Amino acid sequence: MNSIPACPVCSSENTYPDDAMIICPDCAHEWNPSESNHAEDGERVVKDSNGNVLADGDCVLLIKDLKLKGSSTVLKKGSKTKPIRLVDGDHEIDCKIDNTSIMLKACFVKKA
Ligand SMILES: [Zn+2]
Repeated sequence: MNSIPACPVCSSENTYPDDAMIICPDCAHEWNPSESNHAEDGERVVKDSNGNVLADGDCVLLIKDLKLKGSSTVLKKGSKTKPIRLVDGDHEIDCKIDNTSIMLKACFVKKA
């Protein structure tokens, strides 16, 4: 059994664990394998109201009427967006409905 990963710097397999760290005796590189895994999974996951993972280019449906901030426009439940773009922030979804650019919260939509 060899569950110790090879050194990412010099590819040596002489690595050994020391507490949470893995140490490479050949190049003296030390790293924490759980931290490097975390970095790989670091991309944010945005989920719709049903828990489906949303990605750039998906189209979504509104699950409730939403009043557009600063206007009298109401986006109707069931409205379908153009392909979405995921962004950082409070409103995760940047998209268009009826040629109007809007930001939506993922909890108010479901994947179309
Ligand atoms: Zn090494």
